[in-house]
Amino acid sequence: MVAQAWLGTHLMVKLFLDGLDRVLLSRSIPLRHRFAQRLSPWLIRYIGKERFQEVMRYVGQKSPFYRERFRKFNIDPNLVSDPAQLGALFTTAEDLRHFPPEEFLCDRPEMAFETTGTTAKSKRVYFSNKEVEEQSLDGAVGFYALGLRPEDRVVSAFDYSFWNAPVTFSAIIARMRCFHVIAAKIPPDEFYDRVLDYRFNVIAGQPSWILCLTEIAEKKGTWPMKFIFTGGENMSEQTRQYIESVWNTNVYMSYGQTEAFGSIGTECKAKNGYHMNDVNLIPEIINPDKEGYGELVYTTITRKVMPFIRYRSADITKIIDEPCGCEFGPLRRLARIRGRCDEMVNCGMGNISPWFIEEILRGIPGLADDWQVAIKRPTNRDLAEFRLELQEGADQELVTRCLKENIERRQPECWRDFNLRLFDMSFHYYPRGVLRGARKLRRVVDERWNLLS
Ligand SMILES: [Zn+2]
Repeated sequence: MVAQAWLGTHLMVKLFLDGLDRVLLSRSIPLRHRFAQRLSPWLIRYIGKERFQEVMRYVGQKSPFYRERFRKFNIDPNLVSDPAQLGALFTTAEDLRHFPPEEFLCDRPEMAFETTGTTAKSKRVYFSNKEVEEQSLDGAVGFYALGLRPEDRVVSAFDYSFWNAPVTFSAIIARMRCFHVIAAKIPPDEFYDRVLDYRFNVIAGQPSWILCLTEIAEKKGTWPMKFIFTGGENMSEQTRQYIESVWNTNVYMSYGQTEAFGSIGTECKAKNGYHMNDVNLIPEIINPDKEGYGELVYTTITRKVMPFIRYRSADITKIIDEPCGCEFGPLRRLARIRGRCDEMVNCGMGNISPWFIEEILRGIPGLADDWQVAIKRPTNRDLAEFRLELQEGADQELVTRCLKENIERRQPECWRDFNLRLFDMSFHYYPRGVLRGARKLRRVVDERWNLLS
């Protein structure tokens, strides 16, 4: 009797949500936005759980890779209701490189994108047109919350080559019915000259590219901007503040991976963490430290072509449960990414992550945005080799002095160990654009070949 009543309620909620989703809300972004703000966290978890169970059954039937995994781990996909019940079952970047895409495919793909990560072999991720359409609907609600309206004029300077995020972005802008141009990632000076007449008031692109454009605009002049949207790379707060001050506008960042179909989270106007797409992804943090920071793992719960169960992002972050109180309503947040699991290096300097180094670099005048720290072992002690790109005309001696002062003040244990000669440091300076060969730059690298072989 109790079970029947529960089943009845469950069915009614499901029908209610499906109905609402399809009939009432699908066409109106403002209405969707209003509705999203009123969703309760309970309802979001409920939808997530429902969809998780559905996707488990689905991949159990359709994907050879997951069928084999379930068999190996002795898991009945019909009986699992929470990702944590899957124990040691994960999907890794290595799986995507090793197995052909067909192993993961559950439905007919209509497009493919690639992501290179930090190794040479690309991972291929497949989608359908419908998935892009659905993603653009959620994305449009997010941009509506940031203030985008149909009368705005948008230009995208993202790199379109094999990358899905710009495609989704264009679909969102088309759905918002904004006038827009896809400039793609052309040289910033050419971009500046060509876009002047269009009066665009929203620019989207990768942070390092936007920074170069901003330096040009600082010299040649800016125009009124509603906001600037960035994605695809991390950006320091210092760089954000510089870009914001030149354009006199807000810069919003997003965080995503191709495996998650571009966007995992987007900042709101408070710029304090990425609001997650909680109804399309179930996030987990594994191996958290005492502050809650660990590796982000996510399950895609609405994809049909190539869903992923517990995909290991290799990014270190934490889930912020406290409500933000903004227009994104009950959607939880992810903290700024502290680095990649494969970029954490334990050495004489300490447990080094990109976040650790960024703390040292923060506030130093003359630094450009790209940097790399390599840990080497030329003698019997570790050497932290700082490779830093500088702005034109920067004073190298001043930068070196500031770096040492920051270490002393912000990483006192590290400074103590340096003075005890537990490790050495060296500083090398380069003009902008030298370090970043591909789209992604590894920030912290272990080059102690003698230890790795
Ligand atoms: Zn917020």
